[in-house]
Amino acid sequence: MPRPLRVAIVGAGPAGIYAADALLKSDVATAPGVSIDLFERMPAPFGLIRYGVAPDHPRIKGIITALHQVLDKPQIRLFGNVDYPTDISLDDLRAFYDAVIFSTGATADRELRIPGVELDGSYGAADFVSWYDGHPDVPRTWPLEAEKVAVLGVGNVALDVARVLAKTADELLPTEIPPNVYEGLKANKALEVHVFGRRGPAQAKFSPMELRELDHSPNIEVIVDPEDIDYDEGSIETRRGNKQADMVAKTLENWAIR
Ligand SMILES: Cc1cc2nc3c(=O)[nH]c(=O)nc-3n(C[C@H](O)[C@H](O)[C@H](O)COP(=O)(O)OP(=O)(O)OC[C@H]3O[C@@H](n4cnc5c(N)ncnc54)[C@H](O)[C@@H]3O)c2cc1C
Repeated sequence: MPRPLRVAIVGAGPAGIYAADALLKSDVATAPGVSIDLFERMPAPFGLIRYGVAPDHPRIKGIITALHQVLDKPQIRLFGNVDYPTDISLDDLRAFYDAVIFSTGATADRELRIPGVELDGSYGAADFVSWYDGHPDVPRTWPLEAEKVAVLGVGNVALDVARVLAKTADELLPTEIPPNVYEGLKANKALEVHVFGRRGPAQAKFSPMELRELDHSPNIEVIVDPEDIDYDEGSIETRRGNKQADMVAKTLENWAIR
């Protein structure tokens, strides 16, 4: 009788855990004895849900509950503190498993090729986010000494960073921020956070809901310069064909005229 299927998954973020779940629900895994082993570099699973998603987004962090349920399945084992390929090689995995899935995510920032990016006071979002989410690989303290901060990029991570910088530490206290982050945010000197995009409102990659959330804090005044509300033909086309882009542009317009 052939031996039951064994699968290794490298990386226990949502992709790896959902892959395990999908596999167990598939036809190939109906035989008894099927096993799936997840190998995770960090001591704990859940990847960027734990160490990327902003602390004031409990609904998204709540995905962890569903991921836990998958990890509770008896066919799945999780091995933490195992870094590929330092602790386990592809040859090891090939020797013991029938298939290997890599779901290691995208942990580092993309290089930003602009002059001065290497100067003091310039940071990639991944580092700052890792700090406020208590990632064990980053220092416990963060120098929040600037009164004016520039955030480059107009996606949801830019919104997370801007929001965390602009909110008060006490607003974030009910979230799961660690005590060192609360102390760091209490000392935050930022008074103005400027968000820069290289193109216009129609090209911003914000999700409409996350953008509107910026205006929900009583301690944040969102200001949009009316001069930045400018559309060329391509932008008008984008708004026509993309409901999300249109909603984002409308929100920005409303903020520009108030
Ligand atoms: C700042 C930020 C905020 C976000 N906010 C939201 C949000 O509000 N809502 C939303 O839906 N999505 C959000 N996302 C996106 C979401 O977090 C990602 O889409 C999702 O986590 C990707 O899942 P993944 O499993 O592919 O990768 P990851 O979550 O990165 O998981 C990869 C896992 O692989 C492990 N790993 C990496 N290399 C190795 C190795 N060599 N050996 C062993 N293990 C390894 C990592 O430690 C990690 O646990 C955010 C992302 C970021 C960066």
